[in-house]
Amino acid sequence: MKIGLEVHVQLPTKSKLFCSCPTSSENGPNSAICPVCLGFPGSKPALNRKALEMGILIAKFLGCTITERIWFSRKTYFYPDLPKNFQTTQYESPVGTDGVFVVNGKEIHINRVHIEEDPGRIKRVGKAGAELALIDYDRSGIPLVEIVTAPDMSSPAEAREFLTSLMTELRRLIGVSGQEQTMRVDTNISVGTERVEVKNVTGVKNVERALKFEVIRQTKMLAAKKKIVRETRHFDEERGVTTPGREKEFEEDYGYIGEPDLGTYVITDMAAALQIPETPLTRAKRLEKEYGLPFATAKQLVATSWDLADLFEELAAKIGAEKAASWSQGALSSRWKGLQERMSAELRSTLIETVVAAAEGTMTDSEAKLRIEALAKGKEMTANAATDVDVEQLIAQLADEHPEVVADYKTNPKAANFIIGRVMKETKGLFSSQEIAEKTKKELESRN
Ligand SMILES: [Zn+2]
Repeated sequence: MKIGLEVHVQLPTKSKLFCSCPTSSENGPNSAICPVCLGFPGSKPALNRKALEMGILIAKFLGCTITERIWFSRKTYFYPDLPKNFQTTQYESPVGTDGVFVVNGKEIHINRVHIEEDPGRIKRVGKAGAELALIDYDRSGIPLVEIVTAPDMSSPAEAREFLTSLMTELRRLIGVSGQEQTMRVDTNISVGTERVEVKNVTGVKNVERALKFEVIRQTKMLAAKKKIVRETRHFDEERGVTTPGREKEFEEDYGYIGEPDLGTYVITDMAAALQIPETPLTRAKRLEKEYGLPFATAKQLVATSWDLADLFEELAAKIGAEKAASWSQGALSSRWKGLQERMSAELRSTLIETVVAAAEGTMTDSEAKLRIEALAKGKEMTANAATDVDVEQLIAQLADEHPEVVADYKTNPKAANFIIGRVMKETKGLFSSQEIAEKTKKELESRN
C-alpha cells in the first residue's frame, strides 16, 4: 500500500497573499475583500513578503533544495469560489524541492513545498434538491503552503503520525494557529496499482478515517477481481465514506500559465538569511544529546509543554538531569495544566525551590508533591495562609471522630500515622510532615 499526501496549511500572516486585506475579519462574510482578491480587471497583485519567508522557512526546515528564482502561475479552472477563474499558485518553480521529514525513524520524502492562495468558501444551505450555495470571499487570497510528499507512507496510521508530527513542528516554526481545522489534505492512495485521490479532507482524524475507508474499499474490489479506476473521490465526514467525484484530471488540464502581473523573485539571499528556530523535534534531539534523556522521554517532555521543558533545563542545571527529568516527568507534568494556568515568575521560582529542596533532602518527596499539588490548585503558600489553617484544631477534630485511633495509640505509636496522613492531605503541603507529626503525638498523648 502506498500513501502520499498534499498538505495545505494556512500561513499565519496578518494580510492576504497578494493584497492588504486582513486574513481575519469580525465583520461577517465578504467584509475583507478588495479588487485584487476578487480578481477585478485591472487590479494588480503584490506579493506578501512575510508569506514568502514562511514558505521558505518551511522548505528549509524540511531540508529542501531552495529554488533560486521563483515565479507564480495561474491554475485555470472555473468554480464559483474562484471569481478570477484561476488560482495563483506555484507550478514550475516551487520554493523548495526534494526534502525529507522523519517520522518514527522512517524517512518520508518531500517532493515539493510551494505557496499559493486559498479560494473562497462555499456554504451550502437548504434541503437536498433545493440547495443554495452561499459564498464568502473573505478566504480568497489567504496564503497557504502546500507540502507534497512522495507516496512513502504505508498505512493510514502512518499518515496520521506524519500529519500530527508535521503540525507540531509547524506550530513552533511559523506559529500556525494550531487548529486542526486549518489543515486540508488531498490524499493519494493505491492498494493495488491504480491511484485514487481523496480530495480536500479537513483535519488529521478525517484523513485517517478517509484512508481507512479507502483501504477496505480497494481491498474488497481487488479481492472481487474488480478494476480500480483512477479517480478523485470526496470524503463524507458524517457518513465516514468516500464517494466518487469527477474523473481525475491531469495537471496539464489546468492550463498553467505564468502570472504576468507578478515578477520573478530571486530568493537565495532571503533563504540564507532566515534562521530556523528550534522546534519540538530538534529540541528533543538536543535534550537527548545534552542531558542523556531517552529520546521518547525528551519528546514527551517537549510535547507536554515548551515551558515545562524550559523548567526541566533550569532544574537540570541545579540538581542534575536525572532528578530533574524524574520531577518534570512526574509531579510537575501531572499537575502542569493547573500550574500553567497560574504561572508567574514567583510561582516558577517557588516550584524550583520546592524541587531543589526535595532533591537535596531538606523536604521529603511527598511533602514536595503535596506542595506542587497545592500550587497547581492556586493555594496560597504564604505564611498568612498557613496560620489561617488551625492544624491543632484539625488534629483534635480527627481524634474526636476516631476514638479507636486514640485507644490504639496507647499500645501502638504507629496508629498516629492515620491522623498525620489525613492532616497532610487536608492541608496540602502547607506544613511539614515533621510539624504535623509532633502536633499529632502531643494531642494523642494528652488524651491518654
Ligand atoms: Zn484583497
